[in-house]
Amino acid sequence: MGLGGTEMCMEKCRRCSSACVKNGIIKGGHRYRCKSCGRSHQSNYAYKACQGNINLWIIQLNRETCGIRSISRLLKISKTTVISRIKKLAEGIRKPLIFMGRSYEVDELKTCIRKKTKECWVCLAVEKATGQVVDISVGRRTKKTLGKVVETLKLSQAKKVYTDGLEIYKSLLPKEQHIVKPYQINKVERKNLQLRNSLKRLTRKTICYSKSRVMLEASVKLCLWG
Ligand SMILES: [Zn+2]
Repeated sequence: MGLGGTEMCMEKCRRCSSACVKNGIIKGGHRYRCKSCGRSHQSNYAYKACQGNINLWIIQLNRETCGIRSISRLLKISKTTVISRIKKLAEGIRKPLIFMGRSYEVDELKTCIRKKTKECWVCLAVEKATGQVVDISVGRRTKKTLGKVVETLKLSQAKKVYTDGLEIYKSLLPKEQHIVKPYQINKVERKNLQLRNSLKRLTRKTICYSKSRVMLEASVKLCLWG
């Protein structure tokens, strides 16, 4: 039943899921306004990037070995929109909760930024019991990059930290906490393989290296936690 143009309908607000009222007519549909937060949305958008489920598609395609350009071509939205969405989505991701006193595996994965000579590393920490990635750090293979991950593990009072025995870890971790043994970092190595398989920029022999460290970090985060 209409009441002076404010007709209640089944449309739900995209921000707070409250009931909306019709608030105008557009080509092939309506514009709606939320009763509680006042935000407007439309039943359809001419511009594809505004459609409701586009972010979900970006997350899924990013994980299915699609680069920025392929996502842009498949979804028919611009490259700059894909890039800004990936950055924005990655910013909104929270690190998973970390429990006290567990054991972890730490390893790095090599890739390049822009060109073959500019190496960059993705450092991962994986919980030994569950295989869950608890922290990521991206940068050169230095104390600063690896230190970020190690610091998180130290704060969680990790019982044991298994690594491949790189010298940097020896200086970062106390001897009684640090363990170097063959076949003890299988979980994190598997995770590295999974990343190489699902992200185009990390595939071996790829010609699609990341152009910036920020984008590399964003797409890894989106792949693992998105
Ligand atoms: Zn609302």
